[in-house]
Amino acid sequence: MDEHNNLNKEFPVSDGIPIVDNLCTNPENHKTHLCELKSLKKMAQVEKLSANPKYICGNCGNLSNKEGALCAPGPYQK
Ligand SMILES: [Zn+2]
Ligand SMILES: [Zn+2]
Repeated sequence: MDEHNNLNKEFPVSDGIPIVDNLCTNPENHKTHLCELKSLKKMAQVEKLSANPKYICGNCGNLSNKEGALCAPGPYQK
């Protein structure tokens, strides 16, 4: 009755998708995400992707025009 069976619910592991050490919801495309571009200092791309932001990353707070350029995109309003 008191079995500890809930331990493997801690991490949502989906088949075949590598889990990175942040909260990226789309690790396969993480190298195109603003968070990664910023850490690589690709500022030209960063500027392009954040010129007219409509989305905010729930992970790091970056702003982007494109939902697909963020780890955990959510709607952003100025
Ligand atoms: Zn992010
Ligand atoms: Zn990412």
